[in-house]
Amino acid sequence: MALRLYNTLTRSKEDFQTLEPGVVKMYSCGPTVYNYAHIGNLRSYIFADVLRRALEYSGYEVKHVMNVTDVGHLTSDADIGEDKLDREARKEGKNPWEIARHYEEVFFNDLKALDIEQPTVKCRATEHIPDMIALVEKLLERGHAYETDQAVYYDVTTFPSYTALSRQSLEDKITAARQEVQEDPGKRNPADFALWFKAVGRFENHIMRWDSPWGVGFPGWHIECSAMSMKYLGETLDIHTGGEDHIWVHHPNETAQSEGATGKQFVRWWMHGAFLVVGDLSRGVEERRMGKSEGNFVRLQTLINREYDPLAYRYACLMAHYRTKLKFTWDSIDAAASGYNSLKDFVARAKQIGGEEMPWVGEYRERFKAALADDLNMPMAMAAVSELVREAEKRKEYGVLDALYDFDKVLGLQLRSAAERATNIDKEIESLIMEREEARATKDWARADAIRKQLGDQGILLEDTPAGTLWRRTT
Ligand code: AMP
Ligand code: ZN
Repeated sequence: MALRLYNTLTRSKEDFQTLEPGVVKMYSCGPTVYNYAHIGNLRSYIFADVLRRALEYSGYEVKHVMNVTDVGHLTSDADIGEDKLDREARKEGKNPWEIARHYEEVFFNDLKALDIEQPTVKCRATEHIPDMIALVEKLLERGHAYETDQAVYYDVTTFPSYTALSRQSLEDKITAARQEVQEDPGKRNPADFALWFKAVGRFENHIMRWDSPWGVGFPGWHIECSAMSMKYLGETLDIHTGGEDHIWVHHPNETAQSEGATGKQFVRWWMHGAFLVVGDLSRGVEERRMGKSEGNFVRLQTLINREYDPLAYRYACLMAHYRTKLKFTWDSIDAAASGYNSLKDFVARAKQIGGEEMPWVGEYRERFKAALADDLNMPMAMAAVSELVREAEKRKEYGVLDALYDFDKVLGLQLRSAAERATNIDKEIESLIMEREEARATKDWARADAIRKQLGDQGILLEDTPAGTLWRRTT
């Protein structure tokens, strides 16, 4: 199946092709681990996961690399302010390594709960300092970088296609940067960004620090993604993902660093996920992105505490196209949870009733694949799923599980295990159901009702149908 994927670089959908036949080299900007991820961050990783699964479903092998930012991400992307990890460590009275490891562990647990496939390579910034130093040295050698008393910077005027991805004019960017507080008078252009910070001045007491040819210090945030993606995937990547905020600063900076060092194209498909937003314009509450620093965030654990299945959130994300903003409300998560529950109920019923796959199912298989191929149109794919379910109910032909389990390779909604869990009863329960059937046959209604109640108390729901008694677990 040929995929068409939207490329932010060209602002259009293009037929997807890999550089090396059959293998996709894919990199995703990972979390900054100074706080818990919120469900907005997680939307970006659900998008990357659906993309990866769709590529695998289409027959590619995907080499997927994700970094963990455990140093160097300042409170503003424009090199202003403090290192987020350093600040958090001081606030919590812990060392930044402890902070980073704690939030990293919680992050990867969240991914597991959302059935997001683990990256082929996970790499921490702090474990790749020599790779970053080597890259900075190369940029200095090639005339793209310069050193001041405080830092080593990338000179953005040396890279002519610096704004190709953002499509801003360099002049506008420089003017905007000029209005920000400049912490270093040695900077050549206000839009230049740091590759390496020296542990001097405002960073004199920076806790995480390493030796370098420019003295003790720590890397800038952007350099880690260039260094680690090229280390594990080579100089040219097929796909690079991230949230849409990265179109303007982080990803142009990555491009300038990588292409400045190698002279080769860094990324063939830039793909960006739109934001999860909160707020309600109709009630006069301004709509804003969900953000760690915005103080408006909901964690996956918040949903779990309120007894939502984490996969209900995944289901909610699948109902919106990845390039469309998605508004989070409690009503929307309720709707997703109920949609997901009905789908799980359906697969449990279909598993019990069984049946051969009929030719009409083929049309839905085609519709599902066509939706995927059209720039991961998951709302269309989900419409194909729900119409398949409706058709099966209408025709009373339940041989659709192979198709649904096949779709679930991309959806990641654990439909097979949901069906198995719901229909997995032990021998004792099975014999009670048999006993009830006998009681019904001899019109012993009192016994039959007592068994129904006993099973109900154990979370087993019975349904008497012309085809016999069906059952499923409700807990
Ligand atoms: P961070 O941990 O802040 O480095 O962000 C991790 C990822 O989440 C990045 O790819 C961001 O672009 C993305 N992100 C941040 N906020 C949101 C949001 N509200 N909705 C979707 N993605 C987001
Ligand atoms: Zn990155």
